[in-house]
Amino acid sequence: MPRDPRPGMGLRPVINAAGTMTSLGASIARPGVIDAVTEVLPHFVEMDDLQRWACSIIARETGAEAGCVTSCASAGISIGVAGAMTGNSLARIEQLPDTEGLRDEVVIQAGHLCQYSAPIDQAIRITGARVRAIGTINEARFDQLEAALSERTAAMLFVVSHQTMQYGQISLEHSIEACRARDVPVIVDAAAEQDLRGLIQRGADLAVYSAHKFLGGMTGGIVAGRKDLVRAAYLQSAGIGRGMKVGKEGIVGAMKALELWRQRDHAAVREERQRVLALWRSAAQSTDVGLSIVPDPTGNPIERLRLDFRTVTGTTAAAVAGALAAGDPRVIVRDEFLDRDMFELDPCNLHPGEAETVAARLGEVLAALPVAVDPGEMRRRAHAKRVAWPD
Ligand SMILES: *Cc1c(COP(=O)(O)O)cnc(C)c1O
Repeated sequence: MPRDPRPGMGLRPVINAAGTMTSLGASIARPGVIDAVTEVLPHFVEMDDLQRWACSIIARETGAEAGCVTSCASAGISIGVAGAMTGNSLARIEQLPDTEGLRDEVVIQAGHLCQYSAPIDQAIRITGARVRAIGTINEARFDQLEAALSERTAAMLFVVSHQTMQYGQISLEHSIEACRARDVPVIVDAAAEQDLRGLIQRGADLAVYSAHKFLGGMTGGIVAGRKDLVRAAYLQSAGIGRGMKVGKEGIVGAMKALELWRQRDHAAVREERQRVLALWRSAAQSTDVGLSIVPDPTGNPIERLRLDFRTVTGTTAAAVAGALAAGDPRVIVRDEFLDRDMFELDPCNLHPGEAETVAARLGEVLAALPVAVDPGEMRRRAHAKRVAWPD
């Protein structure tokens, strides 16, 4: 591995057992990606031609008609929505976020209104579009979707993510059925999904992926789908998409990441992750902590180790997560279930040797259990720290 620049910047090493997190610098850029980016950086390129090349690669790798690269998946949602409103009219593109004369409603199930460190509805609203939420958080029905679709509807946004409500929602198939009958495109936010072909195959009009999550590319977003919609999304670079610009390095990095993803020995990667999970499991085995290997909730071929502290007295999952994060090196766990007194360890973003360090730190912390911490209180403290940046 190349030199670690973090100490020179005053940064403490951090081990990521959480998953792909923007707040931790996303993922480990793959060495082939870094090489490809280094090669292109000194050169001038005609950006429309570079994106035309990317279009053909995205089409090949996803089975879609067309594709383009943007600065991130969140940007992909925004330019996808904007394109659904403007088509390829530059005049309309320049008009946004003023939506006068345009279809400007985006339908989304209330249970899909999640946040990924920023609220997803804002990715819609910054285009000028209005959010039309359907149903309640734990139930959205087909008839509610049909009733919400009108001549004002520009698109439906469908979110595939563990961050959404996982029951009581309208399926992608039913969403497409209702929208297609009214000529409304369905845009799928699949930022962290590994199935690059399935969503397009199932009929999504646009699918949006992050280049810097499982793919291990540079920071970037990949938009794939119907050619007219991809064209309209791409052309937003002359409008609201300008502030979401991706550079040549982002485009080349994303394309190299796609190529490497196809060539990757996924079975070997999975086997190594099983080994890591078994190691972590044995590090916690002799304690009262409930241990289980849980599959990814949206069907990505990933398993994680879940540690359940409801059976442990005197501490909480939040306290243990806090102790791991406060150690040296810092170990960051997957914390979405702290309120249920559980957390998970994710084996997907580790450098060689780090799995062993996590196992050792886990053993140490579990041997001397930290005093219980309330997860709500912990979040309040994290919030206070965040808004005091840069202090
Ligand atoms: C990560 C994520 C995003 C944002 O992706 P970026 O590429 O970081 O902008 C959007 N939606 C979902 C469901 C995500 O998980």
